[in-house]
Amino acid sequence: MTDSQDLKILFVEDVPEDLELAKRKIKSSGLEFESFLAEKEDEFLKGLYEFKPDIIISDYMLPEFDGMRALELALTYNINIPFIILTGSMNEEIAVEAMKAGATDYILKERISRLPFAIREAIDVKKALVEKKIALNALKSMSEIVQQSPFSVISTNLEGIITSWNKGAERIFGYTSEEALGRNVSILYHKNDFDVLQNYVIEPLLAKGYNQVQVRLLRKGGELFIGSLSLWVVKDGAGNPIGMVGYTYDITKEVEAENELRIKDQAIESDIDGIVLVDLNGNLTYANSAACSMWGYADKEEVIGKKITDFLASDEDGERILNELKEHAFKSEFKAVRKDGSEFPVWLSASRIRDSDGKIVSYMGSLVDYTEKKKAEDALETSEQMYRLLAENTLDCIWSMDMNLNFTYGNHAVYNILGYLPEEWIGSNLKDHCDEENFNKMKEYIGIGMQKAPISEGIRFQVDVLNKEGHSVPVEIIGKLIFDENGAPVCLQGTTRDVTKRVEAENALKESEERLELALRVSEHGFWVWDLDQNDFYFNPKAYTMLGYEDNEFPMSIDVWSNMMHPDDRKQVIPEIINCVNKRKPFSFEIRMTGKSSDWIWVLVKGNTFNLKSKKHWAIGTLVDITERKKTEEQMLLARIAAEEANRCKNELLANMNHELRTPLNSIIGFSDVLLTGSLGQVSAEQEKYLRLMNNEGHRLLSLINHVLDLSKIESDGITLNFSNFDPVLVAENVMESTEMLAKKKNIRASMSTDRNIGTITADVDKFREILYNLIENALKFTPQSGNIVVVMNRKDEEIEVSVQDTGIGIAEEDRERIFDAFVQVDGSTTRRYGGAGLGLVLVREYLKMHNGCIRVESEAGKGSKFIFKIPVYPVRKEKSEYKTPMKRGICRPKYQQQSQSPKP
Ligand code: ADP
Repeated sequence: MTDSQDLKILFVEDVPEDLELAKRKIKSSGLEFESFLAEKEDEFLKGLYEFKPDIIISDYMLPEFDGMRALELALTYNINIPFIILTGSMNEEIAVEAMKAGATDYILKERISRLPFAIREAIDVKKALVEKKIALNALKSMSEIVQQSPFSVISTNLEGIITSWNKGAERIFGYTSEEALGRNVSILYHKNDFDVLQNYVIEPLLAKGYNQVQVRLLRKGGELFIGSLSLWVVKDGAGNPIGMVGYTYDITKEVEAENELRIKDQAIESDIDGIVLVDLNGNLTYANSAACSMWGYADKEEVIGKKITDFLASDEDGERILNELKEHAFKSEFKAVRKDGSEFPVWLSASRIRDSDGKIVSYMGSLVDYTEKKKAEDALETSEQMYRLLAENTLDCIWSMDMNLNFTYGNHAVYNILGYLPEEWIGSNLKDHCDEENFNKMKEYIGIGMQKAPISEGIRFQVDVLNKEGHSVPVEIIGKLIFDENGAPVCLQGTTRDVTKRVEAENALKESEERLELALRVSEHGFWVWDLDQNDFYFNPKAYTMLGYEDNEFPMSIDVWSNMMHPDDRKQVIPEIINCVNKRKPFSFEIRMTGKSSDWIWVLVKGNTFNLKSKKHWAIGTLVDITERKKTEEQMLLARIAAEEANRCKNELLANMNHELRTPLNSIIGFSDVLLTGSLGQVSAEQEKYLRLMNNEGHRLLSLINHVLDLSKIESDGITLNFSNFDPVLVAENVMESTEMLAKKKNIRASMSTDRNIGTITADVDKFREILYNLIENALKFTPQSGNIVVVMNRKDEEIEVSVQDTGIGIAEEDRERIFDAFVQVDGSTTRRYGGAGLGLVLVREYLKMHNGCIRVESEAGKGSKFIFKIPVYPVRKEKSEYKTPMKRGICRPKYQQQSQSPKP
């Protein structure tokens, strides 16, 4: 092309790769051109009016624009600009529609090799158009010239009746003008092509006022040829169509050459894939080497002539392919079978090849072995599914962002962690989700990531981000830069994990460690920690100062510690501590330790062993200075020893005094008795009075001495019981008799009531008498003139119960227990008024205790008292220690307590 230098192409395309391919194809065909790209309507209009293209090559479907609209605009601008639709997908209906609408040509992207031809053709058409325009103009004025034109120029009315016929027409079609004029233009068509005439020639012509087609035409002699037909609608002065004019020339040779080229071109183009040509009966007529090797054949000689069913696993598939191809081109996956019988998946893209008449002459298939691709696809699908599942279900936020730090993806966890829905998240910028400090921090990390190799694991860091509500959330981010094949970073991908809980736990741990550290530091107790795994030993400051040292004056170790112990304690305690530590048992020891001053101080060492969560083993314990306590204890011990010694001396003294005190008293009592009998001579009344006084006081003193001596004997465990069998009633009567005088003196009525079946008991009769005597004597002593005393004795099971009741002064509640203690008298004044030393009830209680008996008192102040004692019928052997429990003080417990525990011999 001579004027190719000036060719201006306006491309309407949104896929850069497709654009690039189209340009290359055009360039490789030797066409020089200038181009303008439009993706939208406004760009297209700009292209039309400013770039002024010679030809438009437009995609059919664009995201914001479409080929049909472009076509409409192009035709409005200039009907003569060739418009080629270059599309990836186009069925026949759309193709027809596009052609009807005025497109010059359409090309499937998979057959892009045809594009340069189409351009050339379109340019030719343009040229022809221009020429035809000139011709048409000339036709009006210079019909002669037209007549003589070597090209066929024919005009018809709207019914198709031929109205003019030039020499060229005569030459091309063989009819003379006489023969042709007045006849219908259909004489120029084969009868089978009348639908082509109507559908492809007339209708588009009427629709757009111009048509350019290549059609099969018929000469007078019956010979068919391919003509390039350019047609215009002829309009009257008012613009109404009145007829048509056509310009035709024979292009049979060119079309045949082009067809051949087209097939070859397709076959060569697709050499990477298998290419086969099949005739209408399904026999293979051509196969490229890729197809042969796909099926396991050596070369095409082996396969040509075979049926397509020989190459497919199922015969039905073969038939289906042929049937479908009769109707349309199609793509589908089939199971193929190789020469050796093995099967494999194959992707077939089949189309029909037409001859210059548009008749289908053969089928072409392009084949791809899908084995690997299918495997890869399956694997990809599985892994994609897995990753999607993982991404949608993980608790971590998964994201990606472009290099402008705009998020391009975020899974559902974005909502859980930061409160954003994924759709809100996508499109937002990193800067929207953190404060400046953290943003800069993150940018720094991204920078570090840039320096790392693309294969690196990515970077991990912790920052604070803001949730949707604007609250700070500590997160751990693992991010990675993705690089393209040239090593340029293209995007960032990563995960974000909410570490609030972890940070809280870490802070809590830090705090509690600090607290512990502080507590140990300020504690009044010494602490020690023994790391059993590392054998590290630690003393807190107090542990050092307790021993007189400065805090951390020297490093502590288990050996240093044991050397500070008293040698005796060390020998005993260190093995014990080690034993307890090994057995994970708590321990507590009191040891002596020497400090800086070399004095021994007493220390209470306590400890236990712990298996820490961190799998460490620690023994931890305290050191408490107990020197003062030890000193007090020692003093108390010494005091007790001294007191016991003093008591022992007292008892010894009293025992020795027994003889020394009683002997003179017995003399006083005895000799005053003798004098009172008058056997040594009559005594005067006054002498008698003093003698009696002497005698009574002697008795009182003897009684007191006896009590004191008895008590001291009891205290020093010096009393043994002399058991005998006796009648307690007789003893009681005896005591009543001996106190009769005293009762009479105060005009007190003393009576006794006993159970006849009491029988005898085995006990110390003297002690029994003493008990009764003391109680009756007290009753008489504390009962005013003319009172009453009743002694009641009963047997209850294996016990004798005796009560001594009086109508005396009574005992206040708070004194009822106290009166059984030695030297206690309710009222100091009673000593003077009633006499006594407060020892009687102590002895009663002690004697009963020795018999495993007990005593209690019931009383009401001012109304009288009732002393009740119990004594077993048979002696009960008791260990000494048992006297102390449950009748520790020989006091009967209240009745309600007794019921549950009846005393048994
Ligand atoms: P005392 O030799 O002083 O009588 P006891 O040990 O026998 O010593 O009695 C202690 C105290 O118990 C008495 O001083 C008295 O206060 C009180 N007491 C004992 N028996 C009676 C009683 N029957 N009535 C009132 N008080 C009594």
